[in-house]
Amino acid sequence: MSETNAQTEAKRNQQIGAAEELLFAGPQKLGVAKGLFLGRFVADWVMPYPTVRREEVPELNDSLARLRAFLDEHLDPAAIDRQADIPRELIDGLARLGVFGMTAPGDVGGRGFSQMAYCRVMEEIGSRCASTSIFVNVQHSVGMRALLLFGTPEQKRRWLPPLVRGELLNGEKRYITSGAIAQVLTVMARMPVPGKDESAITAFLVTPDMPGFVVLEPHMEKLGIRGTATARLAFRDMPVPKENILGAPGKGLKVALTVLDFGRVTFGASCTGAAKTCLRLAVQHANTRRQFGRTLGEFELIKKKIARMAAGAYALQAMTYLTASLIDRGLEDYMLETAMLKVFSTEALWMLVSEAFQVHGGAAYFTDRPLERMLRDARINQIGEGANEVLTSFIALVGMRAPGEQFREILEAFQNPWGDWRKAWLLGLERVGAAVRAPEVPVRHPLLKPYAKRLGQLIRRFNVEVDRALIRHREEILERQYVQERIARAAMELFASACVLSRWDAELQTGTANLDPAGARHGAAELFLRGSFRRTRRSLAEMHDNDDAAVTATADWVLGRGGELE
Ligand SMILES: Cc1cc2nc3c(=O)[nH]c(=O)nc-3n(C[C@H](O)[C@H](O)[C@H](O)COP(=O)(O)OP(=O)(O)OC[C@H]3O[C@@H](n4cnc5c(N)ncnc54)[C@H](O)[C@@H]3O)c2cc1C
Repeated sequence: MSETNAQTEAKRNQQIGAAEELLFAGPQKLGVAKGLFLGRFVADWVMPYPTVRREEVPELNDSLARLRAFLDEHLDPAAIDRQADIPRELIDGLARLGVFGMTAPGDVGGRGFSQMAYCRVMEEIGSRCASTSIFVNVQHSVGMRALLLFGTPEQKRRWLPPLVRGELLNGEKRYITSGAIAQVLTVMARMPVPGKDESAITAFLVTPDMPGFVVLEPHMEKLGIRGTATARLAFRDMPVPKENILGAPGKGLKVALTVLDFGRVTFGASCTGAAKTCLRLAVQHANTRRQFGRTLGEFELIKKKIARMAAGAYALQAMTYLTASLIDRGLEDYMLETAMLKVFSTEALWMLVSEAFQVHGGAAYFTDRPLERMLRDARINQIGEGANEVLTSFIALVGMRAPGEQFREILEAFQNPWGDWRKAWLLGLERVGAAVRAPEVPVRHPLLKPYAKRLGQLIRRFNVEVDRALIRHREEILERQYVQERIARAAMELFASACVLSRWDAELQTGTANLDPAGARHGAAELFLRGSFRRTRRSLAEMHDNDDAAVTATADWVLGRGGELE
């Protein structure tokens, strides 16, 4: 191995070690998503479908009513987009309504809402204006959450009350949402570790009055979410006092990932709101626009779009609230579910915007309608807060870690005569058990039993494919992104299906489902499950029947030719 390769390998091992330490700290309860990778259905986290706590409902309803009235009067998303600015009066009004401190405790001026209740608020804002919802989300997660979770008492005393009042904003690095207007920023910087030949990321609170803080560009011109001010900043020899370190020195990545986890849930809620707006606009248009002597909604190709949109929006909402409930109910590790929600919600919204756009035809292209703005606003979602490709790999690799560990222990026991045979035997039994037995998915309504059975069978099949991939690729799985993508996609579909099944089951119990007159069918839920099962089967089948070699060859050929086809 050459010197450079050895260095790369050492660096990679160091990164893997750091990630292991960060992501897998100590024994934790098994969550829904990690359970899927072990062939289990951890029903307690999924069923029954969660609802906002009863005692929270009156205050939430009151807050939502006041928020709606305020937004009706003061929020003009088209003007925000045109002027590339969120007016100060709007921010002040949202602050007065308590939006910036919804989940902060009462002693710092917050409302102490649960994550689920807060999602209802973000859904409402997201249904109207993406700039405003992203602005609030960044403030709430990267700003307030980071301080709440990692701040010292002094840091909290100093910074939390103004954040809750909407006076301060946060951001970091090259593209920095609200960077040039923030009074305090959360900055992650790689620092040398004293006494070691290593560096680690530390989180700092930085204020614009610090010497060396330079705003290179306060408001970069951009495609969508134009109301948010995205800045380019530089920190030049900027001394930062010790008391501004957020969390433990060298543990900045943990700060970043933890707050991103929170942000991704409310991000899902904003996408849900926008998705519902798209569906409503498409339906209004399909019911009123006449072509060839009929309304658009009478054509099968438009029906197909509307039905697909309804199924996607239903699933997106179910997944958002179920994931939020994991936080409320104290699951320690929900990073897989939030990563899945981020990828799923951004793709679902993109599909919904695009379909609503198509239903509107040429009318959608003009700036007097909201869809061209919504299309522009939605495009950042698949890139920001962790590009979807990066998260897809993350989902597969983090999910496969537990079964991978079990295989490693079994293998080590076989190779070592003094190995822990009993443990290896038990682990082997668990692997074999998961491969032959489909887990039970406990739904209550008889109509849903066949769907539950099929979901259980797919979880078993998924687990078999995860095991096969691990046995086949071993450590090299880290580099096999085509395989990772199929595993992650199947896992996401299984999680989404579990959320939909749980929601539909709850609606049947409480009689709140919009059932068709013939019985207990819910078109959107049913359509989603049928499609999702099919997509899962396809992802798993493509593990064995695919064009991977041709894809690599074509990409390498084109990359080598500088993009020229002739
Ligand atoms: C409007 C806006 C606001 C933003 N606000 C903030 C903010 O407030 N705070 C903040 O920290 N960041 C912010 N960002 C940055 C944002 O998080 C990054 O743009 C995003 O994470 C992608 O990083 P990148 O732009 O460097 O793309 P790159 O890392 O250069 O990636 C480009 C593309 O390559 C692909 N890719 C990258 N890595 C991999 C991989 N490992 N495997 C496969 N494919 C890969 C992905 O498709 C990706 O889209 C903002 C960005 C924008 C556009």
